[in-house]
Amino acid sequence: MTTNGMLHVVNPATGEPVTTVPAASADDVAKAAERARQVWEAGVWARLPARERSAVLVRLADLMERDAEILARMDSEDAGKPITECRTGDVPGAIESIRWFAEAADKVFGRVAPSRPDGLGLMIREPVGVVAAILPWNYPLAMTAWKVGPALAAGNCLLVKPAEATPRSALHLAALAAEAGLPDGVLTVLPGYGREAGAALARDPLVGALSFTGSTATGRRILKDAAESNFKRVSLEMGGKSPQVLMADALDHGDELIDHMIEAAFLTTGQNCTAGSRVLVHRDIAQEVLERFTAAAGELVIGDPADPRTQLGPLINRAAFDRIAGAVDAARAGGARVHTGGLPHGLPPRGAYCPPTVITGAPDGSDVLTRELFGPVVTVQTFGSEDEAVRMANATEYGLAASVWTRDLDSALRLARGIEAGVISVNAYSEGDITTPFGGWKQSGFGGVEKSTNAFDQWTREKTVWIRTR
Ligand code: NAD
Repeated sequence: MTTNGMLHVVNPATGEPVTTVPAASADDVAKAAERARQVWEAGVWARLPARERSAVLVRLADLMERDAEILARMDSEDAGKPITECRTGDVPGAIESIRWFAEAADKVFGRVAPSRPDGLGLMIREPVGVVAAILPWNYPLAMTAWKVGPALAAGNCLLVKPAEATPRSALHLAALAAEAGLPDGVLTVLPGYGREAGAALARDPLVGALSFTGSTATGRRILKDAAESNFKRVSLEMGGKSPQVLMADALDHGDELIDHMIEAAFLTTGQNCTAGSRVLVHRDIAQEVLERFTAAAGELVIGDPADPRTQLGPLINRAAFDRIAGAVDAARAGGARVHTGGLPHGLPPRGAYCPPTVITGAPDGSDVLTRELFGPVVTVQTFGSEDEAVRMANATEYGLAASVWTRDLDSALRLARGIEAGVISVNAYSEGDITTPFGGWKQSGFGGVEKSTNAFDQWTREKTVWIRTR
């Protein structure tokens, strides 16, 4: 994939090239950081009245609406995401994020301390200065917008590194930001390889805060680079192995339950950080749930991501397919049962297609139960009591999300309290909305959250000002 300092964007559905984009080198990153520092010091963005920053970002949201179809097609082609998901989920979500944080720009308040009478203690919120974002390929524009919105609304100069496979929508966003009137050097998109451009950002001495979304392994590297360079503030949004917990009365929700389970498991072809990849079901209803869930998975429309009817597209590349197939084969060899309807005929041979797969009887400790597979593969396990469900839900190193299904409010609350995860949805598969914080626990993340006014904590710092009074 890497030659001549270029990124080769390939359509995962066909294996055909889409475009090439010059890859930023470590030197390019250093220069961009210096330029951002100059722009920051000149104050052309941070010292604008917040209302004016807000107006620029609202214009950006308007321009994204104008170009919504272009943005949707870019993410669909580059990541192999079904176009309907991009049109109805990713792109509207990204626009909402930019607009919401634009409108919040002048609502970021400081605090006043209850100090003694001869002084006034002010805690002022300020932007960090030059900041950076490193992004994954599975929600290219949406994840970019979660970071661009609050980082720019707060007044920072932001350097963005999109994932190797999906640079186009972030580049288009930067062009729209310029059209909206964002001063030059406030938002710089640096497409590039992780080990070069990404690592250069993590080590850059001028970058004061870095927000990362991606795998846990890369998060660990970034934290190390930050510690070994300038102790930049790091926030990490990483992988997951999220449980869907179905109590004995869960089937009272009927088809709605099955629909949400399918969405949880197979949205973005299961390449979703909050994918509900472990179904934990009360043994009284396990057989019926397995039958209905497997049947519904078998009905998913698999095919060309550009076709609006497609529900399940390809994986990001063949390497992902091989990794997932290896884990499924190992589980089968260990005694697991693998339920899958296979793939339809006529798919492009070089497309990285993987059928929806449901696994029962997986051996304890197997990769399919503990590792984030990042594909349309779900395990089903049974439990007999609430305590057992909580123990099983917590039996991974991750803690990103969980869903809990029961009409018993007491039980739902006990489960929500007992499960160690950053986001828990009850009787739904949901990450909440733009007003609710999103972030992981355990090895799924730390250091800050996305969405909601809490997101400003990643991109601002608090300064104490003590005023002596008489
Ligand atoms: P990845 O970790 O391979 O790459 C993420 C980004 O990090 C890319 O831009 C990559 O170029 C960069 N990178 C790679 N090596 C680097 C290095 N040494 N230094 C700095 N940057 C480097 O992840 P991915 O495969 O693109 O994305 C999938 C992962 O992202 C999954 O684990 C998924 O769970 C996670 N994810 C998490 C969230 C969340 O909000 N928690 C959201 C979406 C995706």
